[in-house]
Amino acid sequence: MASTLSDRLSRLVKQMRGQARITENNVQDMLREVRMALLEADVALPVVRDFIARVKERALGQEVVGSLSPGQALVGVVHKELAATMGEGVSDLNLAAQPPAVILMAGLQGAGKTTTTAKLARHLIQSRKKKVLTVSADVYRPAAIEQLKTVTKAAGAEWFPSQPSDKPLDIARAALDHARRHYFDVLIVDTAGRLAIDEALMAEIRELHATLKPVETLFVVDAMQGQDAINTAKAFKDALPLTGIVLTKLDGDSRGGAALSVRTVTGAPIKFAGVSEKIDGLEVFDAQRHAGRVLGMGDIVALVEEVQKGVDMAAAQKLADKVKSGDGFDLNDFLSQISQMKKMGGLSGLMDKLPSHLAAKAGQADMDRAEREVRRMEGIINAMTPLERRKPELLKASRKRRIAAGAGVQVQEVNRLLNQFEQMQGMMKKMKGGGLMKMMKRMGG
Ligand code: GDP
Repeated sequence: MASTLSDRLSRLVKQMRGQARITENNVQDMLREVRMALLEADVALPVVRDFIARVKERALGQEVVGSLSPGQALVGVVHKELAATMGEGVSDLNLAAQPPAVILMAGLQGAGKTTTTAKLARHLIQSRKKKVLTVSADVYRPAAIEQLKTVTKAAGAEWFPSQPSDKPLDIARAALDHARRHYFDVLIVDTAGRLAIDEALMAEIRELHATLKPVETLFVVDAMQGQDAINTAKAFKDALPLTGIVLTKLDGDSRGGAALSVRTVTGAPIKFAGVSEKIDGLEVFDAQRHAGRVLGMGDIVALVEEVQKGVDMAAAQKLADKVKSGDGFDLNDFLSQISQMKKMGGLSGLMDKLPSHLAAKAGQADMDRAEREVRRMEGIINAMTPLERRKPELLKASRKRRIAAGAGVQVQEVNRLLNQFEQMQGMMKKMKGGGLMKMMKRMGG
């Protein structure tokens, strides 16, 4: 999956190089690719629809339509929106409560609540030097209480005993009381697993919440749940005021799309990611990085950067200074302008700025031809002497014939190149230096 979206978009970007301007039609094409990629990443359908609608709105606004490099601009929009949807930056646990700060763990059975309880305990001990107590309110599965005991010991935290015969609310009260009297900073309460959404169990966890008044209510969800994650998330969000999400089993072959679904449905930040079964397999969730991981956006960002790198700002500035200082724009500058375009990896950005028949040729089927043409133009200029490049007005018939022969082209082509050069020269004069810099910058972005 990791490369699917970037592959799809790169392909489209390549196709679109031939299109000088983006239209509502090609935005639709691109959005279809984004949509497919998200669905393949197991993002829930309603979430995909929302996401696409937001991207479309921005894409049809100023950001993409009319942009000189629409493919890259859309990629930028998707990337930004994805990262924003995943959450901004990193959010750690909130422990701003009268100690003990209570953390309530909620989620389906098998989601990884017990494992995560111990991982969090270890995280709080190691990174935040807290004194941590854990307790299990899962009275339905005796093994669950024992499991918590084992993993809590491994985490180096303390475990508060509970019995299958106890009532969950009594366990919670007793553990809270113990934590208070023994000056624990944090109490983490593991709760009964649900195989599916179960009203009785939902009522129970609501009561636990009311009694414990947790500062954090964490919804633990298995990243492998894929499309189903959205329903589970909805049910827990309706039952409890969730303060955060832990996305487990990201080390598996999950496509990670659950992150987008769960985050969208609950509105709660994803705070941690489980990345192994081991006690240290917990990472503070980094939305930017995960956005990259889920949809292979790392590649796309690299793609955008590559294009921006292609524009040599120093060379552009030198050219701009030259024009401004009245030194004139000669064929050497024209040549460096052409090679700049080539470095950008495509010509579409400049096509509608080029006052020539090249712009008319910018249909996508003709892109290869346009590239070849640029190489011919280079060949022609290279066949000139340095003096001729500085003073094109010297180019009379005999010199043109010599140049044409040297470059292996017809004399008409030399004439055409000189026409294009003159047009560009005229444009450069009009734009002055500042205009040129602006134009080069736009080409990069
Ligand atoms: P609970 O029923 O919600 O308490 O789930 P458990 O904590 O018992 O976890 C269920 C299974 O998932 C166990 O086998 C865990 O070892 C495993 N597990 C939990 N978190 C992760 C994780 O981040 N990565 C991997 N690979 N396995 C995990």
